[in-house]
Parts: sequence; structure tokens; C-alpha cells
Amino acid sequence: MTTQEFAVLRTQLQMSDDELAKRLGVRSQLIAKWGDGRIPIAERFEDALHAIEYDTRAESVLAASGLPHCSVADDVRARIASGAALTGAEVRSATRHVRRCPTCQARERHVIDHIGVRKTATRGNIMTRVVGQALSYADLLPEWARPAALGAALLFGIVAVRIVIPLLFILVLGPHRLIGALQLLGVPFMAALGGAAGGFGYSFLGRPLRSVPVAGPYLAGVVTVSAYMAALEWVFGRLGSPMITATSDLIIFLGGSVFFGLVMGRMWFRADETAVTQRAAV
Ligand SMILES: [Zn+2]
Repeated sequence: MTTQEFAVLRTQLQMSDDELAKRLGVRSQLIAKWGDGRIPIAERFEDALHAIEYDTRAESVLAASGLPHCSVADDVRARIASGAALTGAEVRSATRHVRRCPTCQARERHVIDHIGVRKTATRGNIMTRVVGQALSYADLLPEWARPAALGAALLFGIVAVRIVIPLLFILVLGPHRLIGALQLLGVPFMAALGGAAGGFGYSFLGRPLRSVPVAGPYLAGVVTVSAYMAALEWVFGRLGSPMITATSDLIIFLGGSVFFGLVMGRMWFRADETAVTQRAAV
């Protein structure tokens, strides 16, 4: 979606930055930055924006129709509009209701007759909202810092989970082990440093490689995965349990980095490149 398309959509929606941010589960600063083109609109938000546009048009068509309201459906709609995340069970029960309720059926038919069917049904559950929120924070960072921030968060998470049990042992065994506990607490931060190193590897080496014809996306994938893997190995080495202790480990390690790098290059970087080309052509 271009900045112009977004501007047209905003006119149709007539929602404030805050209202739209609430509906999408992002921060309102991000909406403002989409508006003046400082940050491109990530594809994952485009479906959600189109869904909101459809709902808004459906509402105005229904308001003009004079058809009776359904209190059950109104309730669900009010909750979604307030930014509440519906559980899977709630979504299923709402869908069941609409199928059986004559009032809802009449309203749905009226909408379809006037504006057609909804193209994509995007329903945000708690997980996609959490991830969307986290990624919207990342979108506020300068582009070169985003992979490093995500890498740092990822490795911090992985290693923090790993130290929970040893930490409990130390605390149970007694306060004379407190120094050990404090050392252990520092490990996730070390891991975050490693993850950031991997991210910078992508920003400064992987991203430029993506513009190499044909092989570019794959080279970028291999460089990025290798940087993250090297960072992981460095962290686990510091923890006293390195992944590579023999030549065979090294072969598996390098083979894995190349394999997953190629997969990442194909799935992320190549797909992205197509999207960028399409956007430029529009
Ligand atoms: Zn109903």
C-alpha cells in the first residue's frame, strides 16, 4: 500500500490515529509515520486495513438500510472496536450465532448485495496482537537497527528460558551461592549482545548482498543465519557448553547454517523482493 492509497483509505475510514492504532493493535506513532511516508506499511497490516475499510462500509450501508439490530452481534462488534482480543472460542461462537440468527442473516445478505463479500477475513487473536505490537515497536527504530533489536530480543528470550531452572537450584541451595546467581542473571544480557551482533551482520553484510542478481537473496540468507549461529555458539561457549566440540559438529553447524540460510533467503528475502518490485510498479 502506497502513502497515497493509505491517505485515500484514511479519508474513507474517518478514524483518528488513536482509533486506528487501537483497531490494529499498534502504537499511534506508527500510524502517523505511515501517514507521512516515513515508514512503509508492512504487508501484514494491509489485510487488516482492508478488513477495517470493509467493516466501515458495511456499517454505513447497514445504517442506511433501517434493518433491525442484533444485540449479540452489536456486543461483539463493540468489543472488537474497543481493541479487545477475542479468544478462538469467542470467535467460533460468534460465527455460529451469525449462521443461526435471522436478524444477522438479513443484515449480512444486505451487506453482500450492496458491497460484495469480504475479501480477506483477518481475525487477530492474542498471539498475533502480541507479535504485531512487538513488531510495531521494531518498526519505529531506524532500519539498520531493527534486525539487531529483534536478534537481541530473540536470544535474550531463548537464554532466559534456559537459566530459569539452574537459577531456582541456586536460590534453593542457599544464599552463599548468590554470586553464582548474579553471574547467571548476566547471561541473557550476554545472549542479547550476541543476537544484536547477528542482526548487525544482516544489516551491514546481508542486506547489501540482497541486491546481487539471482544469488543475492540466498547469499543474504546464509550470511544472516551464519551470523546468528556464530552468535549462539559464542554465547553457549561462554555458558561452558559449546555446540561445536568436534569436526563433525562443525560440519553439521556449517551445513545447517547454509541450509537454513538458503531456506531463509528463499522464504523471506526473495518474497520481499517481489513485493518491493510490485509496489514500485504500481
Ligand atoms: Zn444475531
